[in-house]
Amino acid sequence: MNIILFGPPGAGKGTQAKYLVKKLNGFQISTGDILREEIKKDTDIGKKIINNMNEGKFVSDEIVNSLLKNHVFDPKKRGKLIFDGYPRSLDQAQNLDILLKESKQSIHFIFFLNVNKETIMKRIEKRKILEKRSDDDLETILKRYDTYIETTRPVMNYYSKNSNFHEIDGSLEIDQITAKIEAFLNV
Ligand code: AMP
Repeated sequence: MNIILFGPPGAGKGTQAKYLVKKLNGFQISTGDILREEIKKDTDIGKKIINNMNEGKFVSDEIVNSLLKNHVFDPKKRGKLIFDGYPRSLDQAQNLDILLKESKQSIHFIFFLNVNKETIMKRIEKRKILEKRSDDDLETILKRYDTYIETTRPVMNYYSKNSNFHEIDGSLEIDQITAKIEAFLNV
């Protein structure tokens, strides 16, 4: 099963993705992690994206799309893709459609974890203390939320017509969200 987890920063996509990876023997495709790895390794891409990431701005579609391609085409990950934080723009959604078509795959479930701004701010404040992420200060959080509204909402409209699109209340407890996802997956 290929799955997209979708929603604002702090909605719990990463937490649910990690759970699904275990449960379904899948592979988490977190573009945030992939990009942070480029920074950690100090690659050419890493040098280009570090400022954008720290300011809570999106990395260019071109860079993200190029980094994603290998994962979609990896035979080991075929049919076991759990997207967390991708696609985040219309361009990325269209790119993913092309990559899936080329690799003869499809998306089976799209879960939209819907959470309001106040809940997200509280959660990210907590995460900042636990994980010490450099893009988790309050100003950056606000910027990331606004970027989400501007850029990612159209992606939601793009997917929401699909019969495999499911909206889930992301303000619920982690276990409750997992239970809802599992009910859809029938696992
Ligand atoms: P995340 O770990 O998913 O919260 O992502 C952290 C940061 O990485 C975001 O604020 C963006 O700067 C960048 N990022 C992650 N995924 C994407 C994406 N699909 N498109 C553009 N930028 C991204």
